[in-house]
Amino acid sequence: MELPVAIVLFFVGHWTLSVFFQTFFLHRYGAHRMFTLSKGWERFFHFCTFLFQGSSYLNPRGYAILHRMHHAYSDTEKDPHSPVIFNNPFSMMNHTRDIYRSINLGTFPVEERFDGGYPDWPLLDRIAGRWLTSLCWGTAYTAFYLAFATQWWHFLLLPIHYLMGPVHGAIVNWFGHWAGYRNFDSKDASRNTLIFDFVTLGELFQNNHHKYGMRPNFAVRWFEIDPTWWAIRVFAKLGILKLRDERLLTSRDEREATHVTDELREALEPAE
Ligand SMILES: [Zn+2]
Ligand SMILES: [Zn+2]
Repeated sequence: MELPVAIVLFFVGHWTLSVFFQTFFLHRYGAHRMFTLSKGWERFFHFCTFLFQGSSYLNPRGYAILHRMHHAYSDTEKDPHSPVIFNNPFSMMNHTRDIYRSINLGTFPVEERFDGGYPDWPLLDRIAGRWLTSLCWGTAYTAFYLAFATQWWHFLLLPIHYLMGPVHGAIVNWFGHWAGYRNFDSKDASRNTLIFDFVTLGELFQNNHHKYGMRPNFAVRWFEIDPTWWAIRVFAKLGILKLRDERLLTSRDEREATHVTDELREALEPAE
């Protein structure tokens, strides 16, 4: 049951980079605009998202609309992905895929408030959205395994590469609203599934994120770790991006600490 180092590196690299660009670029930048980027950096990260998500690339517009609907209608019939509404992650993700497709085809009635304000690169998104492009990515992943796999069962990992985005989506959207603990009371079912989220790089702090939708750090309590926030801090210090509130950079920032602690205290108090 041994895996060649090349395959381990390829699998871990693809997993990590794909989820990083989902949470950093599509989610925190594209859907929420938690920070700003110059046009050049925006294009750079947009291209990286295409490069590392490959066959399961999601365009920023489709992602932003789906995700803003998720915040507005969390765990109701109109939520594009809720474990409260569906029996299993597969039917939930099928439903999400159908909405994503009809948004791209222009047949979905998108509410005006969910549209606009996301990165726009029509040429790249057109090429990336083609069936042939996904097929090329899939062929490349397969070629890598043909070169380095030494046993038949290594090929069982290939479908995860083909469907990397939906695999992450299923994990975050299912478990993030089903399993874990809650720091804040809310009408939705959001939960914090892991306390050190190195699996989906911070996305599994759904309960914190639904409480503070515009906060670029998804970790709230002292023991919680959101690795993407570390990357955002480094990028901010290097001048690659600009946070909406620069005071967030001082981790012991008085204002942020007080703000969170007060809210937390309130939220943790038992209801009357
Ligand atoms: Zn959520
Ligand atoms: Zn969000």
